Amino acid sequence: MGSLDVTKVLWRRVVAMKIVVVGGGVAGLGTALAAARAGHEVVVVDRDATPMPESAHAAFDWDRRGAPQVRHSHAFLARLRNLLIQRCPDIYESLLAAGATELRFTENLPPALLDFEPVEGDERLCAIACRRTTFEWVLRRSVMNVPGVELIGGVAVDGVIAEAGPAGVVPNIVGVRGRKITDYSPFEVRGDVVVDATGPRTNSAAWLVAAGVIEPEPSVETCEIVYLSRFYELRDGAEVPSTVGPIAGELGYLKFAVFIGDNRTFSLTFAVPTADKDLRVLSQEAIFEAGARQLDLTKPWLDGRARPLTEVHSMAGLRNRRRWFVDGQGNPIVTGFAAVGDAHICTNPLYGRGCSLAFVHAFAFVDSLEQGAQGWERTFHDATEREIDPWFRASVQQDKEAKRIAAAELQAPTAQTDEVDPSGYVRELFRDGLMPAVRTVPDVYRAFLRWLNLEATPDALLTDSVVLAAVMKSHQEKDSRPPEPVLGPDRVSFLAALGA
Ligand SMILES: Cc1cc2nc3c(=O)[nH]c(=O)nc-3n(C[C@H](O)[C@H](O)[C@H](O)COP(=O)(O)OP(=O)(O)OC[C@H]3O[C@@H](n4cnc5c(N)ncnc54)[C@H](O)[C@@H]3O)c2cc1C
Repeated sequence: MGSLDVTKVLWRRVVAMKIVVVGGGVAGLGTALAAARAGHEVVVVDRDATPMPESAHAAFDWDRRGAPQVRHSHAFLARLRNLLIQRCPDIYESLLAAGATELRFTENLPPALLDFEPVEGDERLCAIACRRTTFEWVLRRSVMNVPGVELIGGVAVDGVIAEAGPAGVVPNIVGVRGRKITDYSPFEVRGDVVVDATGPRTNSAAWLVAAGVIEPEPSVETCEIVYLSRFYELRDGAEVPSTVGPIAGELGYLKFAVFIGDNRTFSLTFAVPTADKDLRVLSQEAIFEAGARQLDLTKPWLDGRARPLTEVHSMAGLRNRRRWFVDGQGNPIVTGFAAVGDAHICTNPLYGRGCSLAFVHAFAFVDSLEQGAQGWERTFHDATEREIDPWFRASVQQDKEAKRIAAAELQAPTAQTDEVDPSGYVRELFRDGLMPAVRTVPDVYRAFLRWLNLEATPDALLTDSVVLAAVMKSHQEKDSRPPEPVLGPDRVSFLAALGA
């Protein structure tokens, strides 16, 4: 062992802490993994009492009431895949061994990109295809095998334990309390740091208020979409349809995608505006499939080659939400406490960013502990502001645009006005400039995928001069090229064909 390693081991021993993680979803398990491998002692407490299933298929039937989104389609973006390879390659290998596959964006290219020449870095453009339950199952199994981690299921945490400090000093959190869900008996565990990883429905604001913490108002923007997913398994001998390019599309009134899962599974997902009451019928199985059969990209998946594994799961009430744990001067409002993943910042699931950001956040949290017991809160805040918040703001901005389009679809045609819609030009640039350029110009395709996979900053597309020039050119040529492929019928025809 080299001298550097010895120093690291000794140093780690000095700062090793006991970390109590509330929530054993992606963020909680990611935090536990990163913290335990950095030498900390970890206790993970989750409300779901779920014994470890035998296989990925058995994990799909997991009782995960605490995280009901696990039975919705999930994309695991390149940012997450590359972080796994960099920081815990064994987990990446375990995922592949459990049936997950690599989704390489430089293969299976759109037809007009067949002269695409890979460049260095393109190997990073690769996502993971698997069910969310498979991802969590592999992660949990690995975490359980890391020395220094204890996993306690069946405990619903309902408060924090705070240490009274001198006047003027913010509360310090030293543990959590709750109740076992079987017999409601009290539970308590103490540590040096408490991590809230209880996901999008976190109630820790109330726990902190009870402990005397004054938390700033969160930023909340509703997504105003309903998410509908159904999972399928290919029948023996059947193969996935041969397609080129992405299997996803946007019709203004409806977004749709096919997600490849692990072990011959896949899922179809629709996202419809909450305001569009007519489209809610898609939650009925037969109507969901009638809808999918109207779209060229999803139709071949339902030609008898697969059998459904689930009913149609729907989820509403989705939000972009961000909290801060510092005051206006950047000073922590509480010590010994952090929120990681969706409990801190959650974004519209439509953009598929949540699990990737949760993992980035978990590692950023553990890295910030290298500051030692004092002062890590501020370092973690800075990392959150730098790495996660830009994607929160991007999601809110994207949602604004999507809501405008959805509202226009629902409105009856109005009389012509001379009013200029400032977003109209941007929308047109996106539709008639960016998207055709993505399909035909290798540099734009690469830049778009880097952005989509969180491998570039949110503003990278708008600040890349090569991309901008290609988008403007593509926009100027819009009238001289063949019309864009039609992905599906208009809303009225779609509704009529549902037979509802
Ligand atoms: C419909 C939908 C589709 C999505 N699609 C994608 C996608 O394609 N790609 C992607 O990356 N992300 C997607 N997301 C987002 C992703 O699911 C979240 O970002 C991710 O689950 C966040 O992980 P988390 O650990 O913070 O929270 P969760 O995964 O929700 O985990 C929270 C955990 O805390 C536990 N818990 C809750 N309360 C308590 C309590 N009081 N005491 C003890 N334990 C508690 C729960 O049981 C659960 O295990 C989607 C989300 C939704 C809703």
